[in-house]
Amino acid sequence: MTLKNKSTTGIRFVVLKYLLPFSLIIAIVVVTGQTVFFKGIYKKRVSHLLQKASNELIESFVSDDPNKFSKDVTSYVIESNIYTCVYDSNHNYQQSVINMYRPNYNELEVDILLDRIDNENKNNITETIDNKKMMCSISKVNKNGISYYIAVFMELLPIDAVVATLNIGMYIIVIVLLSLSWLISYYVSLKLARPLKQLEQKASLLSKNDPNLVFDVKGYDEVESLSETLNYANKEICKSSKLQKSIIANVSHDLRTPLTLIKAYAEMIKDISGNNPEKRNEHLDIIIKETDRLTSLVNNILEISKLENNMELVITRFNLSKMVEETVLAFDILSNEGYVFKTNVDPNIYVEGDEEKLKQALYNLISNAVNYTIEKEVTVNLTFNEGKALVEVIDKGNGIPEDKLETIWERYYRDDENHVRSVVGSGLGLSIVKGVFEKHNLEYGVKSKINEGSIFYFVIFGEKMS
Ligand code: ADP
Repeated sequence: MTLKNKSTTGIRFVVLKYLLPFSLIIAIVVVTGQTVFFKGIYKKRVSHLLQKASNELIESFVSDDPNKFSKDVTSYVIESNIYTCVYDSNHNYQQSVINMYRPNYNELEVDILLDRIDNENKNNITETIDNKKMMCSISKVNKNGISYYIAVFMELLPIDAVVATLNIGMYIIVIVLLSLSWLISYYVSLKLARPLKQLEQKASLLSKNDPNLVFDVKGYDEVESLSETLNYANKEICKSSKLQKSIIANVSHDLRTPLTLIKAYAEMIKDISGNNPEKRNEHLDIIIKETDRLTSLVNNILEISKLENNMELVITRFNLSKMVEETVLAFDILSNEGYVFKTNVDPNIYVEGDEEKLKQALYNLISNAVNYTIEKEVTVNLTFNEGKALVEVIDKGNGIPEDKLETIWERYYRDDENHVRSVVGSGLGLSIVKGVFEKHNLEYGVKSKINEGSIFYFVIFGEKMS
């Protein structure tokens, strides 16, 4: 596969941009290290060896055992290729001391070094001689009151030639490294870019709201997790577009029904019942009821959008017992229709939270209980135990099937079959309740038994004041 994108910000270029300098730096470090440091390190090492040998040989030279010196000299020649010569105070080579293993060196150069030891009043000089082919370390020794010079020699390897040979190898390695960088960048870019390209092509279909669109691109962890994220995003996009459609359908339906009724009854008043006070009042009541429904629907929609737009809670400390009683009292008007509201409220329970929002949530729960109760009886309990206040709204309705217990909290979920009261809900009530409780991080839920009724509840931390 060839990459279509040849821009200078493509993966291949980026990989090459980082690999090339890296290879170049390695090559430069290796070549300079070889030429600059190799020679120096080698010379230092030889000089160190010579110094060590010199010290040992001086020790055995001045010792009382005459055989030790010649034994040490011999072993240095055999083991380390280090040759030893001894000179007297007049710089004469001492045949008598050691007459074997005399290295091939330039007498004159050694003479100059011997002179330098005397002139510079030094005990030791270590220098390269014989056109840098040999290293020599000369030390001045005193034995039985007479001065001697012990010189140790070691031939140096032809370092320049070795380095030059190694350099040729290095240049080849540099070329190989650079070619490898190019190849690696090409391969890596292919490996990295291919799945990304595939994802990019599929991602362009996200706007189509296709629930069958699946991102299953494999390759490496990041691409796989990006695939998962895109799958999730697609699911959410499809869900939200479905929801959007259903919201528009529901809202327009819910708005149209009361509007049609309001218009119809207003026309009726104008054309027919205007002069008949009894009929007119009946029709006006319907208009008022429908207007109330519209207001409640619009309020619910506003409430949902406030919750969705992450509206901050206004947290205060308030008397929950009072709030519960007040909320139940708001439904008192329904006692005219035969509804019975029972309360069992533990007094003086104080909690912290957004009073208005919690009141709205409780109102929605009671209003649902009213809408779904069959025996026209609704009970609201507030009990307090171990720092926790439990609020329950209990109805004696048809109950909720087990498989619906989760879905009822979803926006626009509505089961019209169970609706007992004539007021048709918006399907937003429980969704608002859920939003409010979750924003407060409260424990909440519903327990229900078919044909017996439901208990909606929430738990909030609080304090009982005496
Ligand atoms: P609605 O306006 O339809 O009541 P909600 O969001 O308040 O909308 O409730 C969603 C659904 O949950 C209802 O349609 C109903 O099926 C179910 N539901 C809510 N409260 C009760 C209840 N107390 N008893 C039985 N079902 C309930």
